[in-house]
Amino acid sequence: MCTAGCVYSDIIPDNDPRKFLRKLVLGMREEALKDPFIWNCNVCERCTVECPMGINFGLITRGMRGQFGIPTPGFIDKVVNEHIHSGNQMDVPADEYMETIEWIEEELQEELGDPNYKVNVGKVGAEFIFGLNAREIKYYSHELQEILKVFYYAKADYTLGLHRWDCTNLGLFSGKNDDFIEIQRPFLEEAVRLGVKKIVVTECGHAYKSTRLMAEKFWDGPQLPIISVLEVYDEWIKNGTLKVDPTKNPEPCTVHDPCNLVRKSGVLEANRNVMKAICSDFAKCILTASITTAVVPAAAVWPCRSLRQSAWLKLKEKLNRLMVQGPR
Ligand code: SF4
Repeated sequence: MCTAGCVYSDIIPDNDPRKFLRKLVLGMREEALKDPFIWNCNVCERCTVECPMGINFGLITRGMRGQFGIPTPGFIDKVVNEHIHSGNQMDVPADEYMETIEWIEEELQEELGDPNYKVNVGKVGAEFIFGLNAREIKYYSHELQEILKVFYYAKADYTLGLHRWDCTNLGLFSGKNDDFIEIQRPFLEEAVRLGVKKIVVTECGHAYKSTRLMAEKFWDGPQLPIISVLEVYDEWIKNGTLKVDPTKNPEPCTVHDPCNLVRKSGVLEANRNVMKAICSDFAKCILTASITTAVVPAAAVWPCRSLRQSAWLKLKEKLNRLMVQGPR
């Protein structure tokens, strides 16, 4: 069942967690270190759900990648190095970050009809710091704009980071802990410097997982609660802070569980609760949290060019199935 459940076992020959594990057990060090499985595995831990021995393949694969000096494929290391150097995965300079925030601020002043609207950046003593995915600054600033609009209506006491704001971390996938820590630690230091009570991470699963992993395994500073923004939305909808109207979204819809957020971090109900509240025809996906597979294991596979085609093949197959069967 572990191999049958593996997202890549049927599209990449010999991508078999059992065979790889056997190489490790038999001490076949060189064969194991050269095995393309190490990079074909997307660290999703789907196979772990089925394993009667509870073997966590995400940990095994990550450890093999990062602890034995093997070369990293694609441009993962380039992105990691840029992140360490610039403070964010997409190498956005500080002035571009502030210009983007100012641009969003102007847009929201008009959209909200509030000429005094300000985006909080580097605010000391806020209830929470909101950690981003760098793409929300570099490419998809409209997504951040929508999130800030929700914060406005909820009257949230938040701040964005001033010196560090990106919570993503490709060190999660390269397995090199020194890089991982160097990338992630400054964001927690920023949270402590600003004196916030909580850390809220944007919808990105790997950003959430990275922030939690850093705090739980490598951080010796003050521990702050780390929450997904989906959990915050869920709470605001439940306690009436946010009023939502599901009739605005009448189309049939479902939700796909991202593995880093749901299976690996346990944020299970928040996304369903929010979708149920805001969509009048919401259907729970038959692929539940324990068996879901990443549609496109984006951050893991994207930098490895050779795997992109495989990822899209799987995505196409899954989308076709959903279109024919529906999510129920
Ligand atoms: S962690 Fe995911 S991709 Fe890797 S072997 Fe297990 S199921 Fe396959």
